[in-house]
Amino acid sequence: MFKGIPASPGIAIGSVLLLSKKTEEILKSKITISSVEDEITKLKIALEKTRNDIIAIKEKIIYDIGSKEANIFDAYLQLLLDPGFTGKIEQIIKEQKVNIEFAIGQVLESYLEFFNKIQDPYLKERSRDISGLVDRIIKNISDSHIIDQKKMAGKFIIVAEDLTPADTAELDKTKVLGFITEKGTQTSHTAIVARALEIPAIVGVRGITSNVKTGDIVVLDGERGFAVINPSSKVLNTYKEEQKRYLAKNRILKKLKKLASITKDNRKIELNANIEFAEEVGPVLENNADGIGLFRTEFIYINRSNLPSEEEQFNIYKTVVQKMGKKPVVIRTLDIGGDKFLPYFKIPPEQNPFLGLRAIRLSLVNINIFKCQLRAILRASAFGNVKIMFPMITVVEEFIEAKKIIEEIKIELKNKKINFDENIKIGAMIEVPSIVLLADELAKNADFFSIGTNDLIQYTLAVDRSNETVAKLYDHFNPAVLKLIKMAIESAHKNNLKISVCGEMASDPLLAYLLIGMGVDELSMNSASILNVKGFIRNIKFQEAIEVADKVLKMNNSEEIKKYLQERMKKIK
Ligand code: PEP
Ligand code: MG
Repeated sequence: MFKGIPASPGIAIGSVLLLSKKTEEILKSKITISSVEDEITKLKIALEKTRNDIIAIKEKIIYDIGSKEANIFDAYLQLLLDPGFTGKIEQIIKEQKVNIEFAIGQVLESYLEFFNKIQDPYLKERSRDISGLVDRIIKNISDSHIIDQKKMAGKFIIVAEDLTPADTAELDKTKVLGFITEKGTQTSHTAIVARALEIPAIVGVRGITSNVKTGDIVVLDGERGFAVINPSSKVLNTYKEEQKRYLAKNRILKKLKKLASITKDNRKIELNANIEFAEEVGPVLENNADGIGLFRTEFIYINRSNLPSEEEQFNIYKTVVQKMGKKPVVIRTLDIGGDKFLPYFKIPPEQNPFLGLRAIRLSLVNINIFKCQLRAILRASAFGNVKIMFPMITVVEEFIEAKKIIEEIKIELKNKKINFDENIKIGAMIEVPSIVLLADELAKNADFFSIGTNDLIQYTLAVDRSNETVAKLYDHFNPAVLKLIKMAIESAHKNNLKISVCGEMASDPLLAYLLIGMGVDELSMNSASILNVKGFIRNIKFQEAIEVADKVLKMNNSEEIKKYLQERMKKIK
C-alpha cells in the first residue's frame, strides 16, 4: 500500500499503465495507417520544441559561462537538422507503422552501436550527448501528448513520475480511470484539472513508479490518498463497496440542487464554479452553481501548437456566457507561467518561474496577446453577464495599466460599432501578500476581489505550491495566511466591494466555515464540490461562524486552529 496526497476524490479500480520517460523502457505499439501522418506531425512539433529548448539553453550558457562552452549545442542543433537522424525516424514510422517514441529509440540504438565501436574517448562521450538529446525529444513529445490514448485498448489507471497540467487536461475520461504520480501537491494545477475532469487522483506518491508495472491491478482511493497494488480479494471487495458508497453519497447530494445556499440564520453565500474548459458548463449547470467565479482561460491556450485567434476565443467565451444565461461569468485573463507553459510561446528560462514572468506580468509585456484576449472577452460580454478578472496583481499600477488597455479596446470596438457591455465589471485576484497590504488603494480602482488562496499561501509562506518536498509548510491554517485573508475582506467591505474566495480552500467545509465567519460573500470551487458545501452551509449558523472566526484569528498556532475547527465541526449536525 502506498500513501500519497489526495488530489481528486473518487475510487478507481483497474490495471496500471506505467508511463516511463526513459527511452529504454519505451514500448513498441503498432499504429494505424491513418495515424501515420499525425505521428509525423507530432514528431515535427517535438523536434521544433527541442530546437527551441536547445537554443534557449545555449543562450543561457553563453550568458552565464561563455560562448566556447556553448559550442556543443551547435552539434545538437545540426543533428536535429540532419536527414540521417530525423529523416530516419520518419522513415521508420512510415515503413514499420510504429509509434514515434519507438522509432526514435531504434535510431538511437543504431547510433549507439556505431559509437560503441569507436575507441576515441571524445567521440565515445558524444554518444551520451545523443542519448540526452533523444531523451529531450521524447520528453517534448510527452509534454504535448503524454500518451496516445486513442491507440490504447481498454481502461487503465496511469502511474507516472509526473503529469503536467497540460497532460492532465488531455486525459480521455472514457479510458483513464484515475492517475497516480510521484510528484505534485493538492493545489498544483495538475490536481485542480483532475478535480475539474472528475478523475480520481493521488499525487506525491514517492517510489510508486519503481514498484508497479503495466498490467498490475491497483485500487486508487482519491479521498484518502491510498493506492493498493495487486490487492487481496478481500481488500478489493471492500473497495468495491466503498466505491458504491461514494457514488450513492453523490446521488444524495444531488437532492440539494434546487435548494438555496443559505445558513440557518439566513446569510446567503453565493456558490460559484471554477472552470478550466468550456465543456465544464454542463456540470456547472448540473450542480446549479450561482455563476462561474473563475474561468481559468489559459487552458484554451495549452495543448495546441499556436495561439488561439480572437475569433476562436470569442466563440468559446460566447458559448460559455450564453449557456450560463443571466448568471455571472468571471473570465480571468491568461495566467501562464509558474507551472503552466505554452509549447509555442517560449518564456526565457527562469530560475523561479512562480516568481517570474507569470500571469498579468506576462500579459502586460505581450500586449498583442493580451489585447486579442480582451477583445474576445469584451465582444462576448454582449451576450450575457461577463466580468473580467486579472490574475496575480502585485502592485496597484498593474491593475490600472491593465484597465487602461480595456478602455482603449472599448473605444476601438465602439468605433467599429461592435457591441459589448459598457459597464463590464473588472476585478482583481488577491493572491500576493503585497496586494493585501495595498488592498485599500486597489479597492478604489476595482469592482470586486477574489482571493486566490492557492497562490496566497504559496507567496506568503514562500513555499512552492507544486513541490511535494515542502508540502508540509503549505498550510491553509497558518495564522499569517488567515490574517491576510481577513485583511483583504475588511478592505473590500470598507470600500463596498464584494469579495470571493476561488482557491481550493473554498471547497473544504472546515475551511469554508472559517471563510464564511470571516465575512466572504462568495465561494468559488470545482463544480463537483458545490452541493457538498451547500449541504454544509444549510446546516450552520452565520453568527456562530463569526464567533469561530473571531476566536481563530486570535490564535497563533496552526495546529491549535485546526484542532479547534475540527472540534467545532463535530457540533454541526
Ligand atoms: C489561486 O491561486 O488560488 C487561484 C484560484 O488561481 P490558480 O489556482 O489558477 O493559480
Ligand atoms: Mg492563482
